[in-house]
Amino acid sequence: MRATVLYGPRDVRFEERDAPAVINPTDAVLRLSVTCVCGSDLWRYRGIQPVDKPTPMGHEYCGLVEEVGSAVTSVKPGQFVIGSFFASDNTCAACRIGYQSSCQQRELVGGAQAPLLRVPLADGTLVATPGIPPDELIPSLLTLSDVMGTGWFAAEAASVKPGKTVVVVGDGAVGLLGVLAARQMGSERVIAMSRHKTRQNLAREFGATDIVSERGEEGVGRIRELTNGVGADSVLECVGTQEAMMQAIRSTRPGGHVGYVGVPHGVELNGQELFFAHVHLHGGPAPVRRFLPELIDLVWNRKIYPGKVFDLSLPLEQVAEGYRAMDERRAIKVLLRP
Ligand SMILES: [Zn+2]
Repeated sequence: MRATVLYGPRDVRFEERDAPAVINPTDAVLRLSVTCVCGSDLWRYRGIQPVDKPTPMGHEYCGLVEEVGSAVTSVKPGQFVIGSFFASDNTCAACRIGYQSSCQQRELVGGAQAPLLRVPLADGTLVATPGIPPDELIPSLLTLSDVMGTGWFAAEAASVKPGKTVVVVGDGAVGLLGVLAARQMGSERVIAMSRHKTRQNLAREFGATDIVSERGEEGVGRIRELTNGVGADSVLECVGTQEAMMQAIRSTRPGGHVGYVGVPHGVELNGQELFFAHVHLHGGPAPVRRFLPELIDLVWNRKIYPGKVFDLSLPLEQVAEGYRAMDERRAIKVLLRP
């Protein structure tokens, strides 16, 4: 098969690789219906995170089970399934408390920008949909593999509740879906921080009530003006830079909550400032597996359409153009069709 491999900064190749096969009895091999490029892939694409050897790319996936190992009992060939970017057994102590992305056996799923994918710990990792989905639901189902689940976790970690005021820092796919999650969880006011017209429009479509285009100290000032000078109850940090993290902490009211899901790159917190900020901080890699049954249900019953974040769709063989479009912010998120 041909699949996506990153050789170094801005060097994405679509080349011949061995097709994945069942290695362990707990594995499954999927034939992917769709896959995509993630904002987090850009850290390596841009050379901010080093690439020391040619790396198969992609960690968001859904599709049909092609083959299962002898120990797999919960999914079978022909079913349509979705899984998280972290494989998990879903039975260990960490999984049982709902933190499958800290599973004691966790394994990163890689190489999903390809027609076929091996998923370890298939019983714990994969969730089947109620049937074969119609085409129009497939992009939304794909988002549940990472970005929708991550936006959902950001809102949950920020303790979003009915009637609360929420700020979302970051207008990438995760931030925009954080807006959707915050509204779905009943927040009254959702302030999206974005400077880009198309992203502002999608944020409004997902339920944002206010847009703040300023950032840094100016952005924090605007949030304070909109929240009686005190800051928001819940703030979702969906970027991972120092500026975004400080913007999130300083936009939060005393006693409020920050949910941070942007993978931190060079973020350092000052103990004194944190001490006097009086905020709760919770975040990390989202335990997407925990949310899959509930989110599949919401998509299946057409309550949410997170697939709207895909504003460019390309054949998989044009994956390099997909990376370019996201790098240059010409696209919010790129859908790839094998
Ligand atoms: Zn586990």
